[in-house]
Amino acid sequence: MQLDDLYRQVIMDHYQHPRNQGDLEGDAVTVDLRNPSCGDEIKLQLQVENGMVRDVRFRGAGCSISMASASMMTEAIKGLSVADALHLAQTFRAMMRGEAVDADELGDLEALSGVSKFPARIKCATLAWQALQRAVGPAEHADDAD
Ligand code: ZN
Repeated sequence: MQLDDLYRQVIMDHYQHPRNQGDLEGDAVTVDLRNPSCGDEIKLQLQVENGMVRDVRFRGAGCSISMASASMMTEAIKGLSVADALHLAQTFRAMMRGEAVDADELGDLEALSGVSKFPARIKCATLAWQALQRAVGPAEHADDAD
């Protein structure tokens, strides 16, 4: 893959130093998902209180894109309302489809924008977001395919 150097640095930093890795104690929604095309696995845990994402953790194994995306997602959604987190998931997935999106909403996540040019890797980048949608999204979004 040929990603912009800055973007590559952001991705490798999250891959090598994942944020919010681990397990949540107490009440948490847990979703396990796999991306069979690459072998990526993620266990995402969310603690939702009063409609807010109070805390989030993940564990996983997989390629740098999948793990960096999961790490970046946890940073991005922590403290957001569930509605805003789900909106961000839709925006991220729109970026992966190559659609024009609001860069301000995405922040650091834009570092993954280059993945949209590599269709085989898109599922790597969206795995964590699919887990998020499955955890707290309306049922009709749970099985969205990219
Ligand atoms: Zn992957």
